[in-house]
Amino acid sequence: MHLVCLDLEGVLVPEIWIEFAERTGIPELRRTTRDEPDYDKLMKYRLNLLRQHKLGLSDIREVISGTRPLVGAKEFLDTLRREFQVIILSDTFYEFAMPLMEQLAMPTLLCHKLEADINGMLVDYHLRMPNQKMEAVRRFKEINFKVIAAGDSYNDTAMLAEANAGILFSPPQNVIDEFPQFPVTRNYGELRTEIDKARANF
Ligand SMILES: [Mg+2]
Repeated sequence: MHLVCLDLEGVLVPEIWIEFAERTGIPELRRTTRDEPDYDKLMKYRLNLLRQHKLGLSDIREVISGTRPLVGAKEFLDTLRREFQVIILSDTFYEFAMPLMEQLAMPTLLCHKLEADINGMLVDYHLRMPNQKMEAVRRFKEINFKVIAAGDSYNDTAMLAEANAGILFSPPQNVIDEFPQFPVTRNYGELRTEIDKARANF
């Protein structure tokens, strides 16, 4: 039995923080896991910026409700889900992701939670556990799934290494250079071909 685990941002939807940076005109919010592999450092930096600019949960929701999945993502996912069980493993937060999940026909999403104060200002973030993408893949293997995982960034590489097959999707050049062991795909057609190839191999 094969299970496909997909990253969310950069694979099915745009980078939420980059969209947010563009709409709010705060260029410092463009920093992502592609630039800063230390996730805790990145999140503290983002929360500080939001506090400085007095932007809360409702501002973020407003931006996200205007955001669409990547072109072709819904069709890719719909077709994939007919043949595989699919789980989305993301380092985003439910508060951000749900409007996008609705547009993707509500696939299963495992991610994290934000904490806001009574005024909706973000005060903290809560990771369910460290390295949740890799840990989830490990648990799925323990219950006898063969796991095929795909992602685009640094925060996916431990998950890709833990999976029976790891695939890069539209990654930046530095990730390609540092992780030459993973096949690189650049569109949904290529990704589907690699997923099918991996399924045929084990
Ligand atoms: Mg990503």
